[in-house]
Amino acid sequence: MQNGLGSSTALDAAGGQGGSVGERSRAARSEREIVALVAGLDAILWQASATSSGDRRGTGVPQLRYTYVSPQAERLLGYSPSSWLADPEFWVRCLHVEDRARVLACYSTGIARAAGFRTEYRVLRRDGSVAYFRDTVAVERIGRGPERRLHGVLIDIADWRETEEALRESEERYRELVENINECVFALDEQGRITYISPVITEISGFEPAEVLNVHFADFVHPEDLGALRESFAQTLAGESRPLEYRVRKKSGEVRWVRSWSRLILRGDQVTGVRGVLVDITEKKLAEEALRESQARYEELFENANDMIYTFDPDGIITSANSAVEQVSGYRRSELIGMHISRLTAPEVWGVAEEMIRRKLGGAPTTYETILLTKDGRRVPVEVNSRAVIREGKPAEIQGIARDLTERKRTESLAAERNHLAGEVQVATALARAGRELMSCREAAPLLERLCAITTEVLNCDCAHALLYRAQDDAYTPVAGYGHSREELEAMRVISLPRALLGRLLQRLGSEGVAQVRLFEPQDLLPAAFPARFGATVALCFPLRRNAEILAILMACYRGRQDLFTPQQTDIARGLKHLASLAFENARLVGELERANRLKSDFMATMSHELRTPLNVIMGYNQMLLEGELGPLTREQNETAQRIQESAGELLRLINATLAVGRLETGKEPVVLEDTDLVALLQELRAETRELCREEGVHVSWRVPAALPSVRTDPLKLKVILKNLISNAIKFTPAGSVCISAETNEEWVELAVSDTGIGIPEDQRASIFEPFYQAKAAQGARGGGVGLGLYVVSRLVDMIGASLRLESQVGKGSVFRVRVKVGN
Ligand code: ADP
Repeated sequence: MQNGLGSSTALDAAGGQGGSVGERSRAARSEREIVALVAGLDAILWQASATSSGDRRGTGVPQLRYTYVSPQAERLLGYSPSSWLADPEFWVRCLHVEDRARVLACYSTGIARAAGFRTEYRVLRRDGSVAYFRDTVAVERIGRGPERRLHGVLIDIADWRETEEALRESEERYRELVENINECVFALDEQGRITYISPVITEISGFEPAEVLNVHFADFVHPEDLGALRESFAQTLAGESRPLEYRVRKKSGEVRWVRSWSRLILRGDQVTGVRGVLVDITEKKLAEEALRESQARYEELFENANDMIYTFDPDGIITSANSAVEQVSGYRRSELIGMHISRLTAPEVWGVAEEMIRRKLGGAPTTYETILLTKDGRRVPVEVNSRAVIREGKPAEIQGIARDLTERKRTESLAAERNHLAGEVQVATALARAGRELMSCREAAPLLERLCAITTEVLNCDCAHALLYRAQDDAYTPVAGYGHSREELEAMRVISLPRALLGRLLQRLGSEGVAQVRLFEPQDLLPAAFPARFGATVALCFPLRRNAEILAILMACYRGRQDLFTPQQTDIARGLKHLASLAFENARLVGELERANRLKSDFMATMSHELRTPLNVIMGYNQMLLEGELGPLTREQNETAQRIQESAGELLRLINATLAVGRLETGKEPVVLEDTDLVALLQELRAETRELCREEGVHVSWRVPAALPSVRTDPLKLKVILKNLISNAIKFTPAGSVCISAETNEEWVELAVSDTGIGIPEDQRASIFEPFYQAKAAQGARGGGVGLGLYVVSRLVDMIGASLRLESQVGKGSVFRVRVKVGN
């Protein structure tokens, strides 16, 4: 069948028919060439005849009689060309069933109209697979009848189909991509109107794509960003495009940040618009903003921190420093960066600092105190807190915070000083109180009892006891205690510690003043049996001494605990030692004095009484003699009796005064306080001293205001005081004047007795108040005296709580002022 081509083929026309031998041979050659060409094509050439009769509307199945089918049919479809040629229905059967009706209709129409056509369809290969062919058919009318000749080329278009399919698919994929990606794809015309926008715009702007088509892009842009956007659009049109970030307004009015990239759409050289992609970057912008803010905050913190913040690399080179570092170190930042950290460290501590840096590089954060060396060579104490930042397993840098400790150090030392002072104050207060209490004790026994109580209290210990030295036994015996049970005290009293046993303790007390004894462990200061009796565990001992002699030992003890007495307590004990020694000595002296005084007073009272009675008898009889009741007296006898009477009178005054003093001394003159009208009191006094004031050569005047405040006092004693002063003033004013006056203010009334008499020398002003003292110059003064008047005055002034002042000038006179408090 292959050679069938030789006789009548569609190519006959090409090769030409008839002609010369040359022509024929040329034709034959060209036919061969054509056959070779055709055979190389992936196409089946065919030729068939058909008739259009009976199917004018082209709906029936055309009857084709194949006259030629090129051999590629075998290769492309697996059928031999003879199959076509033998069976007019063969080809119809080969058509894919889905394409069959369409293809046949196409053929019918083409045959009926005698018009060429082109159709594509699937053909079933012999092996059952599907082949794609494009059938290009030329239809030739044969004569005027329904006869037609058809020439066709079946080209395998499987590859094209695939390409097309791939193209379609890729287009679809692209569209899908465009429409589904988060980025919004858009196209604008050269005016800037939206010609395409992918649906994601709805998410970004709230507008449907249809709503924004043909709307100018600028309508959605935030007015503040329009300028930049216009510029960018112009740049894009000029062929230069850069991404731009700007704000767009949503349908809801909300503002979003977007970023877009765009490029020109060109048709040939013509710019037809701009295509671009737009992304919502609001979240990113917000995050960036937050980051910027936090960075700014961090920078501000870093910069304004009171503490020094800095970093340096593992080689010690400073890489950053805040302004606090500049301030403290005195270096400018430009000097600090690149400087070695050791230059900021005092050389004497660099060794330690270096060790710390080594540790940090090992990963351990460190805190330590060191000394910063400033630019001008000052040393600043700092506390450093730093750590190494590890990147990729290696220390990348060291971050440090350093705090200037100058202020803290100052406060610390101030606080220490304050504490020390507070301690001192505590000690002093405790001692002052102890001193007051102890000094008021006038007897040794109660003093020691009191001392034990005070010691326990101010040393805040559990108990204290006092051991008194008794010379007759040459031993120390407990005589007083505080904080013990009655039984313990009783048991203690019968103990006697021979001085020889306390040798070491006494020696220690002599040299150090106090001794702390740990009774809970072996010691050689105290006989163990003694403290054990009352459970003492620690004792702080101090002596009561007179010169080198230790009169008593005081022991302050803890019971059942092993705390030691603190240095502060020891200080208090040392103070107590001095105070108690003084008080003890004082009590001893006062005791002695009081005893002597009492003896004297008793003596005076007795003697005065014993003397006054017989003296009164003597004076009584002498008076009778003088008055002549026992018979007339001679002139001489009368003069003698007169002298007897005067001397006896003097003696009686002395005895009376002595008695009065005795009563004062023995406390037999109680103070009776009354609300006293001083004006009235002075009037009475004036009347009572009328006699006294008639003394020759002395003018007595009274200068008393019409009203004086009432005072609470003992009026009798006040009168005695004033009387004594008036009598002295007259007595010691041979010629001149005496004035009794009163003055007052809100607090006191002052009663003054002044004279223009002999005055009192400076060196005797204290002595005249002592009993039986009389100034030399005063001797032989008028009226005589016994030297007790001023003593009585001063005692009475004390008793009524008044005060007495004396001003005097020898030869000019004296003023005695008694001041009584108002409302006393
Ligand atoms: P007396 O008056 O009994 O001597 P006083 O105790 O009253 O004893 O006085 C003691 C001494 O003080 C007097 O002896 C006298 O020397 C001196 N004295 C007292 N009052 C005055 C006075 N107004 N002017 C000068 N000397 C005085």
